[in-house]
Amino acid sequence: NAFLYEMAVTDFLTKLKLRNYFESVLIDNIFLANRDKVPLSLIMGDLDHFKLLNDTYGHLAGDLVLQDSARIIMEHIRKTDVAARYGGEEFAILLPNTSLESAYYIANRIRENIENNVIVHNNTEMRITISLGVAQYDPIKDESKEAFIERADKALYMAKEKGRNRVCI
Ligand code: C2E
Ligand code: C2E
Repeated sequence: NAFLYEMAVTDFLTKLKLRNYFESVLIDNIFLANRDKVPLSLIMGDLDHFKLLNDTYGHLAGDLVLQDSARIIMEHIRKTDVAARYGGEEFAILLPNTSLESAYYIANRIRENIENNVIVHNNTEMRITISLGVAQYDPIKDESKEAFIERADKALYMAKEKGRNRVCI
């Protein structure tokens, strides 16, 4: 039934989609991007110094920060966009029918909202930032899902290199 299906594709902690499900949706959307020549963009995001936060405030605090960051992402994208927990503190957001320019703008919207968010735990105020990488699918090269993710990941790596709390393309 629908409830069991949702549970099977959803990360329990963050309520975002799981990586396996995300990648199957990505394959479907790559097919559409190739066939209909519609733009398709991908955002990869990773919380900055998350391990330090975990070590400083504890794992419960870390879970809260993950949950709240995921909530902010969900609140600032469209229902037609797909957000997933891609790794421990890594997020992936698929933006169907969306250009690179719009994806960059959306990534920055998410970055700003996470930066301005204050999470209270045990009477302590915690803050976190996020680095994001953005890429648009290249139908001319008939790009594979792996190559597409790799380019967004490289942009994310650049954002980290340049000092974090920023968006790179
Ligand atoms: P805008 O906020 O400047 O967004 C410009 C364009 O970026 C949008 O053009 C759309 O192509 C893309 N975009 C922005 N946010 C998202 C997103 O969360 N997901 C995806 N997939 N694409 C996004 P569009 O659709 O023609 O919208 C034009 C304007 O209409 C937007 O300009 C905004 O001012 C308003 N708008 C449209 N939908 C919403 C909405 O759900 N909430 C709010 N607050 N404004 C909206
Ligand atoms: P939704 O399409 O699922 O979008 C959810 C939230 O993502 C929006 O909440 C907004 O915070 C953000 N968002 C999505 N697209 C844009 C955009 O183009 N620009 C900006 N700045 N933010 C965007 P919000 O604004 O409370 O809207 C709630 C729902 O109301 C939307 O859900 C959508 O179904 C509808 N909606 C609001 N404005 C528009 C609009 O201009 N055009 C259309 N077609 N629907 C709209």
